Amino acid sequence: MPLPKAELHLHIEGTLEPELAFELAARNGVSLPYADTEELRAAYRFQGLQSFLDLYYELMSVLRTEQDFADLAEAYLGRAAAQGVRHAEIFFDPQAHARRGVGIGTVVEGLWRALGDSERNHGVSTRLILCFLRDESAESAMETLRAARPHLDRITGVGLDSAEAGHPPAKFREVYEAAAALGLRRVAHAGEEGPPAYITEALDVLGVERVDHGLRCLEDPALVERLVRERVPLTLCPLSNVRLHAVDTLADHPLPTLLDAGLLCTVNSDDPAYFGGYAGDTFDAVRDTLHLTEDRLRELARNSFLASFLEDDEERRARYLAEVEAYTF
Ligand SMILES: [Zn+2]
Repeated sequence: MPLPKAELHLHIEGTLEPELAFELAARNGVSLPYADTEELRAAYRFQGLQSFLDLYYELMSVLRTEQDFADLAEAYLGRAAAQGVRHAEIFFDPQAHARRGVGIGTVVEGLWRALGDSERNHGVSTRLILCFLRDESAESAMETLRAARPHLDRITGVGLDSAEAGHPPAKFREVYEAAAALGLRRVAHAGEEGPPAYITEALDVLGVERVDHGLRCLEDPALVERLVRERVPLTLCPLSNVRLHAVDTLADHPLPTLLDAGLLCTVNSDDPAYFGGYAGDTFDAVRDTLHLTEDRLRELARNSFLASFLEDDEERRARYLAEVEAYTF
């Protein structure tokens, strides 16, 4: 039985496996510029964040209907459950679909077909987090939040993703203020390829409660001290960092340093279909390569539930935490 855990940094579009991509392409009459799944997998050698994003956006063009999004989420939930995920807070990118003429209603209601039955079918509770693309304009983000209004009963929070460099968090001050006024939780990618100052800005200007990635905080000792003091969770994605060259190899990943510094670290899969592993695979990889002790692994699992947006269901959080403490390796 795998260690029970929550996954807090997972882009649902990043769970699109080549096999499902081809199946949906055929169903929707979309042609992909790859002969087969082999050739597509061979394209997964990325030079950095941008080269990954180019393929990521190209491939998601196969997602058209509610059923496509339902199938995508259903496939993820099955895999996640098999790897010990008990709770998943799932990102989605409405702007990336809107530009293909797929409305946010199709995305949210489609995902919900799977998420709504996830506890019964997979034993996984879920939350949805709407992400703004930071390389799009602030006006487009605001428009997206407006379009999301009829679906807010399905959405727990907002996030910020896509190309980080040159797109500081402050660009989205107004839309985050609007999201907060709607009662939405706030997270943002910061300090992945962008500088530590973006982490500080995400906290101070956007009011984020968790930082996605955040590993470059190590370049600023005062920031590390603050993150520890304020118990700000980091949603780290070690396999993603290797594939996108934020670190050279997994053995070089600063996770042990971040844990030793007292940071509230969690370990997540980001875009597992592209980066070589789901949540359990990621735990196994950091255990084996970074030689994490059982205490450290239990700490990571505990942190994942502590950092979850489960304030509306503390009983459930307590149950999950008890599962972590009772787990025998
Ligand atoms: Zn991400």
